[in-house]
Amino acid sequence: MLPLPVLERVREALPDWDGSGMSVMEVSHRGRAFRQVAERAEADLRELLAIPDDYAVLFLQGGATLQFAMVALNLAEQHSVADYLRTGAWSKKAHAEAGRLCRARLAADASANGYTRIPPSADWAPDPRARYLHYTTNETIGGVEFAFVPEAGGVPLVADMSSDILSRPIDIPRFGIIYAGAQKNIGPAGLTLVIARRDLLGRARAGIPSMLDYQAHADAGSMLNTPPTFAWHVAGLVFQWLKEEGGLTAMAERNRRKAHKLYAAIDGSSFYSNAVDPACRSRMNVPFVLADPALDARFLEQADTAGLANLKGHRSAGGMRASLYNAMPEAGVDALIDFMRDFETQCA
Ligand code: PMP
Repeated sequence: MLPLPVLERVREALPDWDGSGMSVMEVSHRGRAFRQVAERAEADLRELLAIPDDYAVLFLQGGATLQFAMVALNLAEQHSVADYLRTGAWSKKAHAEAGRLCRARLAADASANGYTRIPPSADWAPDPRARYLHYTTNETIGGVEFAFVPEAGGVPLVADMSSDILSRPIDIPRFGIIYAGAQKNIGPAGLTLVIARRDLLGRARAGIPSMLDYQAHADAGSMLNTPPTFAWHVAGLVFQWLKEEGGLTAMAERNRRKAHKLYAAIDGSSFYSNAVDPACRSRMNVPFVLADPALDARFLEQADTAGLANLKGHRSAGGMRASLYNAMPEAGVDALIDFMRDFETQCA
């Protein structure tokens, strides 16, 4: 979900944005007004995440899925090794895509435990020749999140932060490249954020299309072609909202409280359960199952009637999943917990 104050601002300005007599979707991306949107969005993001000057911020397209390939094309050759931590469905996809483009290997693999635990770092087997170490900070489907930044042993650390970026402060200098599809904590789908240490730009494999080359995007101020202006504008409003709400430290505390409440409710009942190791439970996506899956359809139907939407688990996982992104108010989590208790009583 997007924050309501952001949606209201969008609605208000839609027919006549910034006194232009048109919507932000209709102005030229090369015009002064839109350039200011782009500059402010970048400045606000830099402030929120404390992004140092030696990092480029790119506003791209193609989703996180295109980044699975761009990372390999920009940092590795066909014959080079790249390391992956496989902790769930998304890192599995990232690793598989990189496998088409370089020698992607698994430095750690949680598939044997059903992606319910991050293997202890002492058990990882990274290759010192790797061009980078890739991991997924939050597995959106499995609800597994790193509570720590992996030690990359001197190689650039690459992180897919699609589903937990902006949910708490992060130590940017620990990372080589961070990427995220926008549609969780940033803004509407169609925009992809890349934060890249500048010394990692300009290393793209020869012969690739310029649209896949980070350096080309950086040189063009993320306007190598027509950018998704509306999504960029809304992302900028989300950054402003985050600042007004107290920034990422405040967001982290709010997210911690929301997740804690929901896990406590799940763990306190024998009717609901979550199989993920408490040390790596996601604060953003809380998957859970009912003791009797025959009740799933009734649970979802009644939840929908109660105004609790999107609780069906990912089609590959089944069960339920509550997403608690930044814009989800604490009252939304309280309403879900109340509903779950009522449903349990009703079924007892
Ligand atoms: N990585 C993660 C962690 C995701 O959650 C998603 C989308 N849900 C993706 C990658 C793929 O993102 P996109 O659809 O933007 O390509």
